[in-house]
Amino acid sequence: MKATTWLGGTNFEFGDVADPDVGPDDVLVRIGTVGVCGTDVHITQGLFPSTPPKILGHEASGEIVDVGQNVNRDRIGEMVVLNHSTSCGECENCRTWTVSRCERNTQVAAFFAELASVPAVSAVPVLTGLDVEIASITEPASCCLSGVSRLRIDDGAAGLVIGGGMMGLMTAAFMKTHGVETVAMSEPVAFRRDFAAQLGVDVFHDPAESSLDDFVADLTKGRGLHIAAEAVGKAGLVAKCVELVRPRGQVLMIGVAPVGAPLPVDLYDMQYREVVLQSAFGRGEVFHRTPGELAKLNLDGVISARYALEDTPQAIKDSGEGKGVKLVIKPNG
Ligand SMILES: [Zn+2]
Ligand SMILES: [Zn+2]
Repeated sequence: MKATTWLGGTNFEFGDVADPDVGPDDVLVRIGTVGVCGTDVHITQGLFPSTPPKILGHEASGEIVDVGQNVNRDRIGEMVVLNHSTSCGECENCRTWTVSRCERNTQVAAFFAELASVPAVSAVPVLTGLDVEIASITEPASCCLSGVSRLRIDDGAAGLVIGGGMMGLMTAAFMKTHGVETVAMSEPVAFRRDFAAQLGVDVFHDPAESSLDDFVADLTKGRGLHIAAEAVGKAGLVAKCVELVRPRGQVLMIGVAPVGAPLPVDLYDMQYREVVLQSAFGRGEVFHRTPGELAKLNLDGVISARYALEDTPQAIKDSGEGKGVKLVIKPNG
């Protein structure tokens, strides 16, 4: 099969590699669509730990074209989204923390390729009503859904999301479908605000136009937000969220800050107002139900550009420059 192999830094090699082995409990998937993720960008910038040579890509959908001997052959032809790592459900982390941190997990993602072999349980059927290409955003969306599922949502709640990248957009959309009455977004780029409006976001702040403090004061009559989510990955913005929530308000960390980043907050103020700092990292327990949650959203246009497999480096570069909402690779044309 053809694949794009990451060689370190911003170097990639496109060409033939061996087809993946299909174990007895595996399915072989012809990758239709694979999203470019901020993590892929960060890996090529040395900001996220990863060791080359490696086939990257962990947000994929496609069609099952073969199955291992223990898997029902009826699954051939099924359209699926792929979970990029396995979990055992039995270890201490799976039982008491999250399946995203399974101690026996295997990373199965190598999706910038024509074919991928994954355990049958990691290939989740795409529901009718959800476009299979759009379903490729299941993995990033599941991380946001996991975060939103951890929030306490009060009647009449006002929530804010800082950052309208893919993670901010999905966090805002799920806040809305999970009962946050007023969802606001702070985002400087107009087309991202437009897309957020399509997903149900009610009000917008443009940081180039006004101060976020004034915006939130107006929105909440000076009371502060029930929920403030940071979806950029900047410590200063997480600290800003702490300032902007009301007493016992909740701050949700969705963006991933660099390793070692300190949180510059007034701890006395945070403690006095009994602010809750909530965080989310990974799909948690919600991957299987994410396609159903996505089917409730108007995601038309979420895919901004499609690239051939050999153009993976260009897609990663464009993604790093903030072009489009979601950029995807089409390994099989
Ligand atoms: Zn990702
Ligand atoms: Zn486990």
